[in-house]
Amino acid sequence: MDELLKLCGYEELEDKEDIQRAKRAFHKLGVTDEDVERAKRNIRKYYDVELEGIRKMLGIYLRDGVNLVLAREDGRTNIVYAIMAEGFDLIASAFTSKSEEVYVSWPESTFEILFGPTFFDKQHEVLEAAEARWLKEGIVSHCANVKMLAGLVALDLIPRPDLLIVSGFLCDVAPKTVDLMHEFYDVPMYYFGTCLDREEDEGPEAEKERVALAANQMEELVKNMVEVIGIEVTEEDLWKQIEAKKDLKNNMAQIHGLLDNSKKPLISATHGSVIFLLQRLAANWSNVPRLIDTTSIIYNELKERYDKGYGVVEEDAPLILALNPVSFTDPRLEYMIEQLGMAVTTEIDLFFPDGRRAPEVEETDNVYVKLCAFLQDSKTRKLADRFNIFKESAKKLKVDGILCRGHVGCRTIYGDIMVMKDALGKELGVPTMLLEVESFDPRFYNHEVFKRRMEMFKMMIESQG
Ligand code: SF4
Repeated sequence: MDELLKLCGYEELEDKEDIQRAKRAFHKLGVTDEDVERAKRNIRKYYDVELEGIRKMLGIYLRDGVNLVLAREDGRTNIVYAIMAEGFDLIASAFTSKSEEVYVSWPESTFEILFGPTFFDKQHEVLEAAEARWLKEGIVSHCANVKMLAGLVALDLIPRPDLLIVSGFLCDVAPKTVDLMHEFYDVPMYYFGTCLDREEDEGPEAEKERVALAANQMEELVKNMVEVIGIEVTEEDLWKQIEAKKDLKNNMAQIHGLLDNSKKPLISATHGSVIFLLQRLAANWSNVPRLIDTTSIIYNELKERYDKGYGVVEEDAPLILALNPVSFTDPRLEYMIEQLGMAVTTEIDLFFPDGRRAPEVEETDNVYVKLCAFLQDSKTRKLADRFNIFKESAKKLKVDGILCRGHVGCRTIYGDIMVMKDALGKELGVPTMLLEVESFDPRFYNHEVFKRRMEMFKMMIESQG
């Protein structure tokens, strides 16, 4: 166990309290010695744990899982779970900065990593628990991301929350599930969103309306939380959060810049989700100093690699842009693609108009409009905008092929990607491939089938010279 904790950045094991907490939480989760051994093997295989920043990063997820499992013991009286709640991390940290009794988590994200095949490999139990209730299994099924939240609560692996937060910026499956949880468990919920079904030929005015509506709903969300949680959070508190997180934002931007500008991938694409979901963990104010420190270490370590000309694949390896989220739980696909001698760059809500990696910063004195900057990103835009964003991103990155991940549990993602696959290939003149995946369910991974498809894709790219 100590060795696993060291791999996850519990560096010197000097903090006995921290270690005892991890052991208590593992016991509650039913983690066995065998699970720990498997986790050690897989973490060494899929993650660059020779880098201090990566070890520390894994530790942040592990601590979030531990804090969540022990939240009631720790006297947290306001436990808030968020799912698909874009822009909420900043609102959340304003509340958690005011009282240690408030704890906010995206439990499905944290446990997709901790219970995925790389760590304790227990996700199937959680998914089955959700499927035994109202979330269907099978190929045409509900998204495993929402199953994770429902299953974790159903199995009492994490405390029953005091408040559930969900947005409708992407789908209706998450809001419907949260609504059912609200009914079943009698837990208050809050939903926020904006209008999605826009016409393709609408101009900038329509976009302004979309932002204005979202900003208004976020303001209502804060008011509602103040009432339910009983802690005052003002607009000034939100501005303070924006200011306090600038270093974290800058560190992430520097990491992106380095990865995008390097001819060879500086780190395996298996790290895609774990690096880029980090900002969700900034929902808890107590995590922020550790996140700033960790992302700064990651940047410096990657910069050192960059300066030395290091790469995880050969410089002339074909570069694939993989659209739609990498698996949040299972790094095997990215690992296998790299083993086949291809470099992967990923899209995970990080492409913005003109292929930028960050939103345009708007001068505004409305803090809620400021919080809506994420609405510029590829995942919440209408199809035509998404297409243009991907096209420009692919051009900037000079990719040799586009892998379109069709996440079968998601109507939004799968529908769009089917349309975009051929259009992107035609526009950019590079091969494209559609691969059906379930981005949150490791049971879906079929090594032999996926490997054959990727070998074929590599041949298509090579034949284009
Ligand atoms: S992946 Fe799609 S279906 Fe799943 S929670 Fe996200 S938007 Fe909803």
